[in-house]
Amino acid sequence: MLRRIEGRVEMTVREVVLIGDTRLRQTAQAVDFAAHDWRQDAMDLADTLADLKARLGFGRGLAGPQIGSCWRLIAFDCHLGTFVAINPRITWRSSETFSVLDDCFSIPGRKVPVMRSRSITFEYLDFDGQAHVFERLEPDLAELVQHEVDHLDGILMVDRARAETLEHRARS
Ligand SMILES: [Zn+2]
Repeated sequence: MLRRIEGRVEMTVREVVLIGDTRLRQTAQAVDFAAHDWRQDAMDLADTLADLKARLGFGRGLAGPQIGSCWRLIAFDCHLGTFVAINPRITWRSSETFSVLDDCFSIPGRKVPVMRSRSITFEYLDFDGQAHVFERLEPDLAELVQHEVDHLDGILMVDRARAETLEHRARS
């Protein structure tokens, strides 16, 4: 997030954590609003996503573990808006699913087909602790949110792809 410090605008961009790093495999912790150390992570997460988008021309979401944060934070820059979702939760999933060719900043250069719920409802808190809800998202946003929330549970797209392949093999 852009912010002025002594008259200068500063951004804090962090390295994106890559597959193989154990920090991507941890279950992120719920943010405690009484504590303060998550706020810097939340701002750095937004800065890092903005930097990726500026340099690469794409990037709709980035999850806390991808910058080495242990908190349940997701930065979004998509049709939903540009914001950080704190303690996001998927509270409803459609029974209908669809296949997405998924990609991930933590797994550069790879695209894998993953099954996702076609629509979801998702809730989160903002910086002030106010609750927000997005009801019954369109498929392109639903799959984005599912991908990012997976990161908070230590799940990567390749796990979903692998599980599907095994399931397919078991059936055939
Ligand atoms: Zn990812």
